[in-house]
This record gives sequence, structure tokens and C-alpha cells, in this order.
Amino acid sequence: MQGEGKKDIKSMTLPQLEEELTAAGEKAFRAKQLYQWMHVKLARGFGEMTNLSKELREKCGEIYSYTCLEPIQIQESAIDGTKKYLFRLSDGNLVESVLMKYHHGNSVCISSQVGCRMGCRFCASTLDGLERNLLPSEMLDQIYAIQLDTGERVSNVVVMGTGEPLDNYDNLLVFLKMLTDENGLHISQRNVTVSTCGLVPQIERLAEEKLQITLALSLHATTDEKRRHLMPIADRYSIRELMEACRYYFERTGRRITFEYSLVGGINDTDRDAEELSALAKPLGCHVNLIPVNPIKERNFVQSEGVRIRTFQNLLEKYGNNVTIRREMGRDIDGACGQLRRRTMQAIGTGSTL
Ligand code: SAH
Repeated sequence: MQGEGKKDIKSMTLPQLEEELTAAGEKAFRAKQLYQWMHVKLARGFGEMTNLSKELREKCGEIYSYTCLEPIQIQESAIDGTKKYLFRLSDGNLVESVLMKYHHGNSVCISSQVGCRMGCRFCASTLDGLERNLLPSEMLDQIYAIQLDTGERVSNVVVMGTGEPLDNYDNLLVFLKMLTDENGLHISQRNVTVSTCGLVPQIERLAEEKLQITLALSLHATTDEKRRHLMPIADRYSIRELMEACRYYFERTGRRITFEYSLVGGINDTDRDAEELSALAKPLGCHVNLIPVNPIKERNFVQSEGVRIRTFQNLLEKYGNNVTIRREMGRDIDGACGQLRRRTMQAIGTGSTL
């Protein structure tokens, strides 16, 4: 898939890299130097690694592929400084990432796959299906490229862009370990959120990793019937199974889960929905994040009215839940998730590649 079958050096953990280099007759400390260049100094190629001999750099270039993302478009919000990036991967595929500036630091929302096969009906990222999984390096690269562009440290990462992260489980796990590794960017696990449409076996598997990340579940409906209307994955796993998986996750990790709930006008925003949502969230002590649905032109879902959103929030609070409404960042540059990539692909009239 990458670099004519060469091994992807930026997806190797430090112990793996040490093993590789010592097997090739190099000293172990060279691995640490290389790792630092890739994951701390964010070098864009072997050529920049000036404290390594030219010979070693050339040898690495022959054996390994080196992923690097090219920003082909950057849109910046005049309102709040939010930046939307469109990157080209080395095989020509496109991915989107978003930088949001908060008082507590810079947060980056990354994609985990090129496209998605989950088919959520309100989501633009899934309209063309899944192209391929992203490598650990390609997930890291989105953060590295943004940090290089802004010159500012990224302190929070949310895996909420295009793709279903738990559908790319193994690569996600390596990515999470490398992102939070003290030898790399060393982002605190507590500052990392992974959002899933609810793949029950993978949630249970993730629970065993005992990470301190936040798991966000895209719930969006409180009955199986309503959920099936919005999300095909609801045909696979019932809400009851999902809640059991959430309980298990909480028990194993001690981390409270966030429920994401996109409010769709006339579909899931009644007082009854709020009551049912509270009945699911409260026993697990979940935080509820309400997202006014971002309409996409391919579907006719509409946002709930402002008053309805506030009433919905008030009801949840009255029942004793911890609730936030997702702040709309970068309203002036924002299409729904995945729309920048989609628009660009359509404009250049190709499939999903450039
Ligand atoms: N596949 C993962 C992560 C990607 S989507 C997941 O399903 O959680 C990140 C969040 O944005 C999810 O809660 C998703 O349901 C929501 N989302 C996607 N498209 C949206 C839209 N048009 N309006 C509002 N929320 C949307």
C-alpha cells in the first residue's frame, strides 16, 4: 500500500525500532535519535536528520517508507480561528482534520480512515463507503502537520473525523500508544477522546487495554427502532448490548463514557427522548454531549430549533445529568464532517484520489 511495500518506519514503536536497527547492525541509541526526529522534532524526511550519518539516512530511505502529509487546502475561520485542513496522503487519497483553539489549549480532530463503511444516515464521510484504513503514522501525521503549520503545541486530540476508529482497531491502538508515549509528543491520555458508533466487541477489547482516554459513544437515539433509522450499525448491536459494553468499559477503566447525541429536528428531540436518554445515561454517570445536527445536502435531516435544543438540555439537567451542547466552531468555514474532502473530490472529478 505504501512506498512499494517498504516498511512504514513512522508506525513503529520505539522498542520495535530498536529491534529493527540492532538487527541491521546499528547501535540501539540510533533508534532513539530517529524516533526523536520523527515524533518530537517532526522531521518531514530522513534528509532533515542531521545528527545521523548520510550513510544511515540513505540506508533508511532504501529500506523504509516515510509517510508525510501534504496540506492541499487550509481554511481558517475569521470568527474563532478554527482551521480545517485537507491533506493528501502518499497514495493520493485525501483526509480532513480540524484544529480548534480553546482557552485550555489546541485541540485537533483527526480522521481514522479514508471514508467509512458504517453508513450513518446524517454523515457525509460515509456516503462513498470505505477506501482504506489509515496507518498509525498517518493518524500521527495529521497532528504533526498541524503543529508544524501553527508552530503551537497540540494538547488535545479527538478521533472524531472521518472513519470509525474501532473499525481500524489495531492501527488505532498503536497510534494511541505512540501519541501518548513519553518519547513522542507525550499527549496525556486524559486529553485524548475516541468516538465510536458502537462496535460492541471492540469496546470490550478496548476496556482491557485500561487506557485513561475518554470513550465517546455516538448514541443518537434511545430506542433500537429509532437508532436503526439513523445508524445501520444498530441492526448489529442493540442498545441493551451497547449499555452492557459501556458498563463493562467503565468498570474496567474507571473512565466515564460520553454519550454523543445529534439532535435531529422532529426525529429524536422530544421531551420523551430526553427522558429516555437520561434513563440510559444516568445509571452510568455518562456525560451527554448534544450536537445540533449539521445538515448535509444528500439527506433531508434538519437541525432542531434553538428553543427545542435548550429545552432538551434543561430536561436532561433537571433529571441530574451532566450535559453540554457542542459549541459550533468555525461556523463560517464549516460544512458537516467530511464535506471538505467530498467537495474537493467532486470538484476535481476523480474517485477518492488526487
Ligand atoms: N465513527 C465515529 C467517529 C466519527 S463521527 C463515530 O461514529 O462516533 C464523530 C461524531 O459526529 C459522531 O457522533 C457522529 O455521529 C457525528 N456526526 C457525523 N455527521 C454529523 C452531522 N452531519 N451532524 C451532526 N453530527 C454528526
